[in-house]
Amino acid sequence: MIGGFKAAHKRLAEELAEDARRTASWTGRGEFSGPVMRAMMEVPRHQFVTAGEAPFAYANRPLSIGHGQTISQPFIVALMTELLDLEPGDKVLEVGTGSGYQTAVLAALAGDVYTIEIIPELADAARRRLAHLGYRNIIMKIAQGREGWPGEAPFDAIMVTAAAPVVPPALVDQLAPGGRMVVPVGEHGGHQDLVRIFKSADGRVEEKNVLAVAFVPLVED
Ligand code: SAH
Repeated sequence: MIGGFKAAHKRLAEELAEDARRTASWTGRGEFSGPVMRAMMEVPRHQFVTAGEAPFAYANRPLSIGHGQTISQPFIVALMTELLDLEPGDKVLEVGTGSGYQTAVLAALAGDVYTIEIIPELADAARRRLAHLGYRNIIMKIAQGREGWPGEAPFDAIMVTAAAPVVPPALVDQLAPGGRMVVPVGEHGGHQDLVRIFKSADGRVEEKNVLAVAFVPLVED
């Protein structure tokens, strides 16, 4: 499917597997599941970046998507997706659509994906791109993502793709019993941890720091 990128693609698959092994003592996930790896291989990352960045689309590093924003390194996309333990049919919320790349990976694995972006130009470009690629299970809005999407809650899984100073309480509220969330927490330019949250059937919330990360900050208002 991604003819010209085949060799880079194969190398990326190997690098993802290697990174997963290397970080297993922190993440508890020594390998990515089959469905997550398939989704990573299936979604054409080169379609989500600017033409100038396309030659690096399958390199294991972050890429600029304009407006001072970046599309995360593929390993981080795979890890955050893995940590959500998605099941087909899960209802998912993503905060920070950006290019729509992570959205597409989620949409390949879950049921409906609700995604919120605060920068209208990025949202519009992502909407066009995802429609062109044929995704039918993605619902987008332009809004302050920290408040979540109360009218559609609860969600089986929530992913935040920009760093929050603290875990946004509205998002924890909107997690279903048994729900999982991943969110980078910390100051911009300071220490940030990728945090995984699990809400048990009785509503108890467990939080675990997974890995040190570097994300752009969640825009305040
Ligand atoms: N996941 C994206 C990249 C994320 S970069 C991808 O795969 O391309 C972080 C994104 O979060 C940016 O697009 C940024 O505009 C958006 N963002 C930042 N603060 C936000 C907020 N408060 N609400 C919604 N989106 C926000």
